[in-house]
Amino acid sequence: MRAPHTASSAPLLRLAGLRKRYPLGQHRIEALRGVDLEIREGEILALTGPSGSGKSSLLHIAGLIDADYQGQLEWQGRPLSGMGMHALTQLRRDALGFIFQGFNLVPVMSVADNVDFPLLLQGLTKAERAARVASMLADVGLEQHAAKRPDALSGGQRQRVAIARALVKQPRLIIADEPTASLDSHTATQVLQLLRERAKAQGAAVLMATHDARALLFCDRVLQLEDGRLQDARLADYTLNPTPSEAAA
Ligand code: ADP
Ligand code: MG
Repeated sequence: MRAPHTASSAPLLRLAGLRKRYPLGQHRIEALRGVDLEIREGEILALTGPSGSGKSSLLHIAGLIDADYQGQLEWQGRPLSGMGMHALTQLRRDALGFIFQGFNLVPVMSVADNVDFPLLLQGLTKAERAARVASMLADVGLEQHAAKRPDALSGGQRQRVAIARALVKQPRLIIADEPTASLDSHTATQVLQLLRERAKAQGAAVLMATHDARALLFCDRVLQLEDGRLQDARLADYTLNPTPSEAAA
């Protein structure tokens, strides 16, 4: 079992001097140009910035999906560079959850099986898994839909399945890339509310890239990327202004 949720100020993931380049013919695109960021236990962070500013690149590195970068990452004070392949795989499998814009559910599996999927590698008994899946589906209000296929659900319901799938293994950090981009505004607000509520209930931190001004109301801290560089911004700056781009103008 993981350690109980501690004070919200403890550092969970630290990124220091992070740089990311993509090759482009003879040239290279500098997607991240020296990003320093500390994600603390249990905090909900919004990552804003125009398209192409490096949000997804940052999420892929923070989510340990992309290991091709320069700079340092520390997980709970331990440098990732000192961890072996096995420890990294375990960290990714047990401590991280992902939510994507396009839901990324498996269409041929039921809602329950989609949520069960991340638990398959965790060595739980079938009964333990079934109990966890059922309680997770109840938490996101989908207990009536457990046996359905994802394509029988609305967009908002599908994103709730994705939230359940990300949270079911009780990760320490949820990485969410534009999780409301495919949703209408009413549904988006409900999904954000649910994500915040469930993440707080489990003590999971959330790093969420978003264009959605409403999303900022559900976050504890707002960060802004511009041309691969991070600028700390206060939530208050945004709540007074409808969108980050207007705030920056
Ligand atoms: P955002 O998510 O904020 O839109 P990205 O991280 O996707 O930003 O992209 C940042 C920059 O890196 C952009 O200029 C983008 O074109 C470039 N980029 C992203 N992924 C790749 C890739 N796989 N190959 C080449 N360039 C990429
Ligand atoms: Mg992106």
